[in-house]
Amino acid sequence: MELFENELSIFPTDYKEVLQRVNTSKPVKYCATRNYINGAVTYLSPYISRGVISTKYILTEILNKGFNPSKIEKFIQELAWRDYWQQLWVVKKDAINSDIKHQQSKVAHTAIPKSILDANTGIEAIDNAIKTFYTTGYIHNHLRMYIASIVCNVGQSYWKAPAQWMYYHLLDADWASNALSWQWVAGTNSNKKYYANQENINKYCFSNQKKTFLDVNYDVFKDLGIPKKLIPTTALQLETPLPPRKGISINKTLPTYIYNFYNLDPIWKKNSIANRVLLLEPSVFKQYPIAQKSIDFMIAISKNISNIQIYVGEFNALVSEYELKTIYYKEHPLNTHYKGYEESRDWMFDVQGYYPSFFAFWKKCKKQLHY
Ligand SMILES: Cc1cc2nc3c(=O)[nH]c(=O)nc-3n(C[C@H](O)[C@H](O)[C@H](O)COP(=O)(O)OP(=O)(O)OC[C@H]3O[C@@H](n4cnc5c(N)ncnc54)[C@H](O)[C@@H]3O)c2cc1C
Repeated sequence: MELFENELSIFPTDYKEVLQRVNTSKPVKYCATRNYINGAVTYLSPYISRGVISTKYILTEILNKGFNPSKIEKFIQELAWRDYWQQLWVVKKDAINSDIKHQQSKVAHTAIPKSILDANTGIEAIDNAIKTFYTTGYIHNHLRMYIASIVCNVGQSYWKAPAQWMYYHLLDADWASNALSWQWVAGTNSNKKYYANQENINKYCFSNQKKTFLDVNYDVFKDLGIPKKLIPTTALQLETPLPPRKGISINKTLPTYIYNFYNLDPIWKKNSIANRVLLLEPSVFKQYPIAQKSIDFMIAISKNISNIQIYVGEFNALVSEYELKTIYYKEHPLNTHYKGYEESRDWMFDVQGYYPSFFAFWKKCKKQLHY
């Protein structure tokens, strides 16, 4: 099913259009349809992931429109999942890069099935989603779950390299949501592996396929050998095509505000006069590579910030090269080496720290909704 043509038609980068998208989201319809491939999902994640808008902003806008929280609970809960994964990253730091709760069982290799990379698994809904993914940088949540399940639980790949492949191409790339969701599917961040069979895929993707390697009952999955289609694998070498390093112009009498892949908020300190630098650190993108489309999206969306300049290099090099004295930045797990004035990010609820399960976290959040 072709839903959209390319990333620009689906993800405009003008700030006003982003706000308009929040304004036109349909939280009631969302709750009823979000699991279907054509459901009323918001397509807001690239803007949240790049720090253009926050989950708190979305919730406030939606509640200001008069929606009763109890009627749109699923919508709020999904936004809360995002904050939950973020909190886990803050607390667990680099530990999210390995199996977080349990070791992944039944692992045959650390690569990724070639048929996934080539959109050639033979499962039509999956292959269409992957083809569209390469054009748009977006995949529906249910399809992300299906793909992760096929790769890790049916194809027996270790979750990490496939997660990096998906992160690489996603415009909403967010390592917490990504790594921890892959781990949730693979059973390393949950108590059981997630499986979906062909019947489930047919239902939510409106396909009508039979006799595929997923056309089995659920009790068959745990003893299933790796299907032929998933046996050839590829070990990926992902690299980030960072723009070339150029000189920037700094006024030493002004403070410097640091923006990055996770903070492109156009209204942060909007009315102050300052140097504004989009810092692209090669070390970060070496560890968490992203594709050209993701770079282009980040740069296009950064244009909403007036006078922003791009610096490709490490934080310490920027500071010493331009003798920066007064630096401000927003808190994030990838920024812990920054020095200066750290400001907090927006969270939907005043619920912080480690919760072993989402529902323990959600129980606390829900109380703050007062209904
Ligand atoms: C294997 C896998 C990998 C994922 N990788 C990423 C990623 O790199 N970046 C990313 O932003 N999300 C990721 N997600 C979560 C989710 O799929 C996306 O946030 C969602 O599909 C984005 O589309 P949307 O904005 O239309 O979401 P909607 O369904 O409209 O949801 C609204 C918002 O709620 C939040 N949300 C919804 N579902 C989830 C979820 N399951 N987990 C966390 N937050 C959620 C997102 O911020 C989203 O923008 C991943 C999920 C899976 C299963």
